[in-house]
Amino acid sequence: MERFQVLVVGGGPAGSAAAYAAAKAGVQVLLLERGHEVGSKTVSGGLLYTHVLRDLYGDFWAEEDPPFERWISRYVLGFLGDSSATLVDHYNTSFGEPPYNSVSVLRNKLDKWLAQKAQEAGAMIVTGTRVDDLLEENGRVKGIISGGDQIEADVTVVCDGINSLLTKKKGFRSEWAGSTLGIGVKQVIELPTGKLEERFLLSGLEGVEYTFLGRPKGVEGGAFLYTNKQSLSLGVILNMQSAVENNLDISMVTEDFKSHPFIEKLIAEGTLVEYSACLVAEGGLDMVPRLFGDGFLVAGSAAGFVLNNGFNLRGMDFAVGSGRIAGEVAAKAVKTGDTSSRVLGEYTHLLENSFVLKHLRRYKNYPKFFANRRLYDAYPEVINSFLHEMYSVDGGDRGHLLSVLRRNLEGKASLYSLIKDAWDAARNL
Ligand SMILES: Cc1cc2nc3c(=O)[nH]c(=O)nc-3n(C[C@H](O)[C@H](O)[C@H](O)COP(=O)(O)OP(=O)(O)OC[C@H]3O[C@@H](n4cnc5c(N)ncnc54)[C@H](O)[C@@H]3O)c2cc1C
Repeated sequence: MERFQVLVVGGGPAGSAAAYAAAKAGVQVLLLERGHEVGSKTVSGGLLYTHVLRDLYGDFWAEEDPPFERWISRYVLGFLGDSSATLVDHYNTSFGEPPYNSVSVLRNKLDKWLAQKAQEAGAMIVTGTRVDDLLEENGRVKGIISGGDQIEADVTVVCDGINSLLTKKKGFRSEWAGSTLGIGVKQVIELPTGKLEERFLLSGLEGVEYTFLGRPKGVEGGAFLYTNKQSLSLGVILNMQSAVENNLDISMVTEDFKSHPFIEKLIAEGTLVEYSACLVAEGGLDMVPRLFGDGFLVAGSAAGFVLNNGFNLRGMDFAVGSGRIAGEVAAKAVKTGDTSSRVLGEYTHLLENSFVLKHLRRYKNYPKFFANRRLYDAYPEVINSFLHEMYSVDGGDRGHLLSVLRRNLEGKASLYSLIKDAWDAARNL
């Protein structure tokens, strides 16, 4: 039987950050990844807020081959009507100053870069190895079981993603409820660089991100589109419960989104080169399971660490941030010779003082806010029909702004509910 001081399960952003932080602290680390290579099994829309890379790895942007595609200079919030689109398009030159606010990434490249950092710090990475179970003795985790092999470890850091079998087996969580999960599809659509830059008004490595509401229509969910160097990352995320209740097929919904007249123009002449689907945590703070036990820590999506407040979809920075803290706590515990839950419990304390639990706590009501159906049917339609009427001139009398608004709200939402929802947004997002 082999033995390591820290064993990390999963080679996504959480696992590689944990392995890097623990190895950097000077302990012996093994990371096991089930994919044939790191990054081969992971799915993400691909917008990464870079503060975590800067804090953990320093000047990542100045490396010869940095792990990102484009830095984002424009953030666009789009509301789609049946045959219309309204965009709030925010551009700021300061987004173009390193370390950049956010970057678009392709996971295969990002995950390899993160794993390489862990390796350079001294961690050993083994791919093509699926962990089947935890090795336990009197409730204490002593390592893992993979096939017929057992590997012992002082601390096991579980970073096996949203489907985390290990936290379930350990009884740290029950089955996630459908209302707390999103089902997401992500496509990569190739487009020649020149055409892409011309179409999206980009120069150099500038990029743009779009978040859309209104497609799918009337169902909890949204869509995204990010620019890479020579491709677009496009996807749809649907709340699982809504998708089941409305009998929706996510691939059909994605095709419907792509055939919207505005989206069709953005992706015209593109070639679909990649298709993937995965679950995403949408339950916020309420879905966070128990995070530590004797010889055991949980980080990343396995811990439900994802925040989607409509403006920012954040899972990768939460994964790196929590993985880092888990790695540091694991290494510290190993060095003190006490890897019981008494010492590993410092993990939650540090998370509470980091952006991970602070931000999840700050936006703890976002899942409730986004359960409001008016966000997906009434408002995108009203915004579009209201502006359509405001911009249309035909010699008739449309009245003042308030009467146009009232007319367009009719049958969709009351003025009272609009004001109430705006107030809820202001307080919760
Ligand atoms: C459609 C979609 C779009 C998204 N868009 C964004 C976005 O734009 N920005 C953002 O920040 N976040 C986004 N997210 C969320 C983000 O992808 C996740 O939060 C993030 O990947 C979590 O990282 P992780 O390391 O915890 O888990 P993962 O990235 O899922 O990595 C888990 C790793 O563990 C491995 N593994 C699993 N089980 C085992 C096992 N038993 N043994 C060994 N290895 C195992 C897997 O192969 C995988 O490599 C999106 C998610 C989806 C589904």
